[in-house]
Amino acid sequence: MISRIDLRGEPGDPRDVLPRAETGVDDMADKVRPICADVRDRGNEALSELTEKFDGVRVTEFRVPRTAVDSALAGLDPDVRAALEEAIRRSRLVHRDQRRTDTTTHVAPGGSVTERWLPVGRVGLYVPGGRAAYPSSVVMNAVPAQEAGVGSLAVASPPQPDTGLPHPTVLATCALLGVDEIYSVGGAQAVAMFAYGTDECGRVDMVTGPGNIWVAAAKRFLSGVIGIDAQAGPTEIAVLADDTADAGYVAADLVSQAEHDVVAASVLVTPSETFAQRVEDELETRVPATKHSQRVAEALGGPQSGIVLVDDLSHGVSVVDAYAAEHVEIMTADARTVAERVHNAGAIFVGDHTPVSLGDYCAGSNHVLPTGASARYSSGLSVQSFLRGTHIVDYDRSALREVAGHTIALADAEDLPAHGEAVSARFAPERSTTERG
Ligand code: NAD
Repeated sequence: MISRIDLRGEPGDPRDVLPRAETGVDDMADKVRPICADVRDRGNEALSELTEKFDGVRVTEFRVPRTAVDSALAGLDPDVRAALEEAIRRSRLVHRDQRRTDTTTHVAPGGSVTERWLPVGRVGLYVPGGRAAYPSSVVMNAVPAQEAGVGSLAVASPPQPDTGLPHPTVLATCALLGVDEIYSVGGAQAVAMFAYGTDECGRVDMVTGPGNIWVAAAKRFLSGVIGIDAQAGPTEIAVLADDTADAGYVAADLVSQAEHDVVAASVLVTPSETFAQRVEDELETRVPATKHSQRVAEALGGPQSGIVLVDDLSHGVSVVDAYAAEHVEIMTADARTVAERVHNAGAIFVGDHTPVSLGDYCAGSNHVLPTGASARYSSGLSVQSFLRGTHIVDYDRSALREVAGHTIALADAEDLPAHGEAVSARFAPERSTTERG
């Protein structure tokens, strides 16, 4: 069911042989371009046609009415409400601590640079909803945006075929968070709606949130028109485990992430062939027994999933680093120390009692995380994602005079003499302070 890749005795760069999906976000640009252009040119009419085609439901007005949100909250199961409220509480604790404060650096007497952090003005939050409903993604998007102080938040999530509205638990979670601008639209067309605006939805400055390959490709294609967070596409888990780990836990965690999508990636990296076999045996019994067994079997059997055999844990750490997964679990002896050695991961889950599912919902951490090896250079969603830093530069005359020579020398070195003249003009004899009063 799950393939094996044997890297023992192969100390080189493993990036080309590690399991990866055959179709990456880059390959989708040509497919999302016409969808985005159609929404830009024809607005709601295009959204209606695309929604009928891809979501199997006719929607003509995309803004979800307040009454639908209120009734979704009234009908919310009390246990789910309690779980959501706890998830929101923990998420606020973590995200509140991330807020950066302004800093002022006195570079020289009379010369300072202040870095001022301001929230993005208006943000579109994408909440997936094709194969599963993701109320947890409302929490993960909205809490950091609110903690950053974003003034205007809109949510888009695919309509359900029977109601033409997003999943009721998604609507109820929006209500719990005080988000009342919600649109029944999914996929690339939702990202385009946010980027270009329509009669109903004002354009946004930034789109964040996870989604399938269509959503991730549209975000990448439209970045520049809008700001985006990291590429948060189909889920990935890489478990680094030795034979001290519980094979049942590891198999359960591989299955849990495969449940997201047929192109989700579940990878085990281990130096122990006997442990690999034990995990395979566990998968044999767990996969047919799980609710979405067909989806899980397809994800585990795909080219993006596999069991990677390595020489030892050090080799394992370098393979995990090269893979740069969205989620990395460390299930080894002395897991905390091993976790410190992993540098490339969207999030790291340490030890037997920190499954990725905990982070998906209730750990307090964010589950919108970089995929497709983009964890090498980007971070998961945080308060920081919604803030922009502006330098406020404030020099008085004597501070400028002190550094005028260096500034002019650099302007001349770049053959941009007018830059230097903008400095020297301020010290020309006729521009003395006395003359200017
Ligand atoms: P989704 O909302 O992302 O996508 C559904 C939409 O895709 C539909 O509304 C439809 O418009 C569009 N679509 C589907 N097939 C299409 C086609 N052939 N052509 C054009 N558009 C099409 O929901 P989903 O499909 O359930 O996927 C959710 C994804 O989010 C999963 O891949 C999951 O792994 C991922 N996820 C990632 C993270 C992260 O942080 N990286 C977190 C949670 C979920």
